[in-house]
Amino acid sequence: MAFLDIRHLQKSFGALRVVQDFTLGIEKGEFVSFLGPSGCGKTTVLRMVAGFETPTSGAVSIDGHDITGLPANRRKIGMVFQAYALFPNLTVADNIGFGLRVAGQGKAEIARRVGEMLELIGLPQLGSRYPFQLSGGQQQRVALARALAPRPQVLLLDEPLSALDAKIRVSLREEIRRIQRDLGITTIFVTHDQEEALSMSDRVVVMHQGIADQVGTPFEIYNRPATRFVAEFVGTLN
Ligand code: ADP
Repeated sequence: MAFLDIRHLQKSFGALRVVQDFTLGIEKGEFVSFLGPSGCGKTTVLRMVAGFETPTSGAVSIDGHDITGLPANRRKIGMVFQAYALFPNLTVADNIGFGLRVAGQGKAEIARRVGEMLELIGLPQLGSRYPFQLSGGQQQRVALARALAPRPQVLLLDEPLSALDAKIRVSLREEIRRIQRDLGITTIFVTHDQEEALSMSDRVVVMHQGIADQVGTPFEIYNRPATRFVAEFVGTLN
């Protein structure tokens, strides 16, 4: 069984089935992208892994433990959203320490961990700033630090770069991968941007209407698209 094991997940909203029989195993430390057009079900799969959405059927397990029935706050999962998800009335340091405080960690341990996280994201001087005093790219680094501070087993990134300027997006791609590799954290990255998925990932899952059309390395996806949809979406067919 893979470290993060997603098995036969399905999700319907009323009569609308948005995820159909989604099965995927992700190895420890692997960086996997879910790539596909808006509305294909990427976020819904991610939200079921996070515990924000209950599957209609199927199961999710981490490190051999079935977490399908666990509420989100009892899963060891960190999540970063598109943008603007920091607490505006808390400093950067308090944002990063938020999950640790909720978990009842002591002040000294929180301060130590926040310091480590600020170093990790390359913003050691900015702990006392407020989110509105940061650029969009800096805010997303802080969101990443906040997600990682409690040492989650799995990191979920939902279009974390899409609200940023093109230039910052490219530099943050590399930054995210560096941090992810440093920590060896198992990661799912949701994006509709094929270049982002192909340049960043160990493997890519191309999704289409609630189904994983193809799972493969960026090389396989680009050079040997399994369906016409994949070929069109990754841009090898026009
Ligand atoms: P993606 O992340 O690929 O853009 P989503 O997973 O957000 O796609 O959405 C997949 C489909 O499910 C869309 O048609 C969306 O409208 C629908 N959907 C998502 N959440 C809900 C919900 N809470 N209620 C009803 N329909 C939903």
